[in-house]
Amino acid sequence: MTLPKDSAPALRVETALVTSGRDTVAQKGFVNPPVVRGSTVLYPTAEDLHAHRGEFQYGRHGTPTTKALREALQTLEGPRCAGVGLAPSGVSAITTALLAVLKAGDHLLVCDNAYRPTRLFCDGMLKRYGIETSYFDPLIGDGITAHLRPNTRAVMVEAPGSQSFEMPDIPAIAAAAHARDILVLDDNTWATPLFHRSLDQGVDISIQAATKYIGGHSDIMFGTIAANETAWPLVADGIRQLGVCAGPDDVFLALRGLRTLAVRLAHHQRAGLEMARWLAARPEVAEVRHPGLETSPGHAIWKRDFTGASGLFSIVLRPAPQAAVDALLDTVKLFGMGYSWGGFESLVIPFDCTSYRTATRWAPGGPTLRLHIGLEDLDDLKADFARGLDAFNAARGPAK
Ligand SMILES: *Cc1c(COP(=O)(O)O)cnc(C)c1O
Repeated sequence: MTLPKDSAPALRVETALVTSGRDTVAQKGFVNPPVVRGSTVLYPTAEDLHAHRGEFQYGRHGTPTTKALREALQTLEGPRCAGVGLAPSGVSAITTALLAVLKAGDHLLVCDNAYRPTRLFCDGMLKRYGIETSYFDPLIGDGITAHLRPNTRAVMVEAPGSQSFEMPDIPAIAAAAHARDILVLDDNTWATPLFHRSLDQGVDISIQAATKYIGGHSDIMFGTIAANETAWPLVADGIRQLGVCAGPDDVFLALRGLRTLAVRLAHHQRAGLEMARWLAARPEVAEVRHPGLETSPGHAIWKRDFTGASGLFSIVLRPAPQAAVDALLDTVKLFGMGYSWGGFESLVIPFDCTSYRTATRWAPGGPTLRLHIGLEDLDDLKADFARGLDAFNAARGPAK
């Protein structure tokens, strides 16, 4: 079933996730494309060779597998998407996008809640290459104008920050940036384009660590770079010059993950919100930072700009010694302790942004944990976490 291209926008996104990027004839009837492992593509005649004639030229530039995934992602990213590049990890997608748009002497603005490896790249390699990065309060809104310099080339946001969950006002930041021809990049990993169409909100380059929800099974490393008409030529050229490409198995698994993204995210959203509300009612929890909760910072922006919430949020516990937090972590069994998120399984990890924030002060007032709510039964998850909180209380001693 190959759908005519111009019928795609009329389909709802859940349908498009299932139908886009499929070419049944080319796949000899099979629903899915093959995992094409390939470098060399042979030309039948000298004339074809000289003219570079042929749908595919070389493995790094694309295969039937990458074509299917890029088409599906382009549909997901929406009508403003001019192209999607594939990268071997989320960090690689971020660094490739930044290198593609920046040059020596440029100034880059990055929101203070950005993914830490993004900061490390800006303060490390970009600095060495003569690009200066400064950081801004994610809640700055159109106050960003005061930070724009004559040589500011790009602004990078992350909505929400994947530990602290502040919500930048992307339309306001984008309007201020575009008034000076400055590009806006968004790390859209938390919401995915299903819940936040970055490119429709003024973002020029929308990046995802597809390692998370697109893969969805904690079994791939992958990144995507979607760009609008303004930025796509730069991104496409950057990908080509840097030689960025992803392995065929991961490309296939990203496409497979994409097919079930809508049902998984619907569950992550429902379970995440219910768990967040349950935690908010617990006496051990001082604050729940989940954009979908009315009490959370950035809830109004989330309501205005997002169509859903994923299953990742954080909590601030009442003040307690590290040993009490460790007792909780060692007691929970269904919440694995590990980095990353977006898979089928629940996770918990302590975090602390204090040491690397530069534009804002991180002072939550108690130990902080980030939770990913997976696809397990919610009552099982609550019972498991309740046992963890019991251990926390026992190790914490009588409440002060
Ligand atoms: C995980 C993550 C990344 C990096 O993705 P990798 O695939 O691990 O390189 C980037 N941004 C955010 C918000 C992430 O959570």
